[in-house]
Amino acid sequence: MVKAVVGANWGDEGKGKITDMLARETDIIVRFQGGANAGHTIINNYGKFALHTLPSGVFYDHTTSIIGNGVALDIPVLFKEVQSIREKGVPMPKLLVSDRAQMVMSYHKNFDAYEEERLGGKSFGSTKSGIAPFYSDKYAKIGFQVSELYDEELLKEKVERVAAQKNVLLEHLYHKPLITPEELFDELMEYKKMIEPFVCDTALFLHNAIKEGKNILLEGQLGSLKDPDHGIYPMVTSSSTLAGFGAVGAGIPPYEIQEIVTVCKAYSSAVGAGVFVSEIFGEEADELRRRGGDGGEFGATTGRARRMGWFDCVASKYGCRMQGTTGVAFTVLDVLGYLDEIPVCTGYEIDGEVTTEFPTTRLLKQAKPVFETLQGWKCDIRGIREYEKLPKNCRRYIEFIEEKIGFPIMMISNGPGREDIIYR
Ligand code: GDP
Repeated sequence: MVKAVVGANWGDEGKGKITDMLARETDIIVRFQGGANAGHTIINNYGKFALHTLPSGVFYDHTTSIIGNGVALDIPVLFKEVQSIREKGVPMPKLLVSDRAQMVMSYHKNFDAYEEERLGGKSFGSTKSGIAPFYSDKYAKIGFQVSELYDEELLKEKVERVAAQKNVLLEHLYHKPLITPEELFDELMEYKKMIEPFVCDTALFLHNAIKEGKNILLEGQLGSLKDPDHGIYPMVTSSSTLAGFGAVGAGIPPYEIQEIVTVCKAYSSAVGAGVFVSEIFGEEADELRRRGGDGGEFGATTGRARRMGWFDCVASKYGCRMQGTTGVAFTVLDVLGYLDEIPVCTGYEIDGEVTTEFPTTRLLKQAKPVFETLQGWKCDIRGIREYEKLPKNCRRYIEFIEEKIGFPIMMISNGPGREDIIYR
């Protein structure tokens, strides 16, 4: 049985916590897209962790963690992460890396930084993890696949080609130091040493696991609105964030994905540039940011202050629809307990007309939020384990949003810990 955990919005919805929680009944957790450019925050008995590359299952000794072929594999970051969890007493995780995954090279990170510098104020707010240059090269067919590390003849020829092409840009566009084929080759050989013990045909491994009836969880990064096709292009990420891509990025048949748990946060936040219709500013935003998540809404990777907003039914309905949601996990609801009234964005006004369907970027730029205001519940809901025990206004908030987005809210998260969950 294969389940996917994915985000409905701009990321940071609390997927890490939900995955960590579901991991208890999971044999295998697979990352299928993205790279080290976003993080999951997980709190458990070993401590608090910000993971960027490792799947959230690494804390359980019964799970196997897989870095699928669709991931931008950053080997140094992966290594540092394994080290950092081991230092905190976590046993060595069972980790497998796809022989078809491609590697993020140091020049990808440099190109990311150079491009941001070149664009100046018009930049995309990249985390400079090399993700966009990495995926560009993958689809331009000049990326390095893990399997190629075992063919030194091919590599020697390929590093010449790649260096020649990169150096044109380095010299003429960016005016930065050039790279040599030798240093690329050495970098690759170093990666080979680091990754060798983990490499295997993970698609075959998963095929056999499915046949044996194992529980498999696909862990998405970011959310629907950052998808390159269905998101707020061009302010998107460079690999698909949708559950459907889980089949490709893990190497399993699409019909095996039976459950799609889409994570929605009880209010909105976003990082980086791009239209954010229900965004709020000033003291109102500062307070929500300070109280948000677990210790404030600041990026797990960058520490950047996240942009804040009220819950957006238009974006979330669309985000859930594009994921193919079978159930919603509604998170961080406890944070809203301080508010007398809670605005919810229920429509977008575009050109004098109100719509509840999420438009393309051109129209999104013109959208003004339409808010409805709900009564707050003014108390701490942490520790509650049964839906009926939630305050009436809190249930009304959940049910209002459920009706607007049109997908069933099956789990409610009311605290950062594994046990802070209410099933409906
Ligand atoms: P992800 O990238 O989707 O996993 O999201 P983040 O790592 O940014 O998670 C959001 C933050 O919210 C983390 O610090 C979590 O520990 C925290 N968190 C998750 N669920 C809840 C919740 O229900 N309540 C509170 N207060 N914090 C939560």
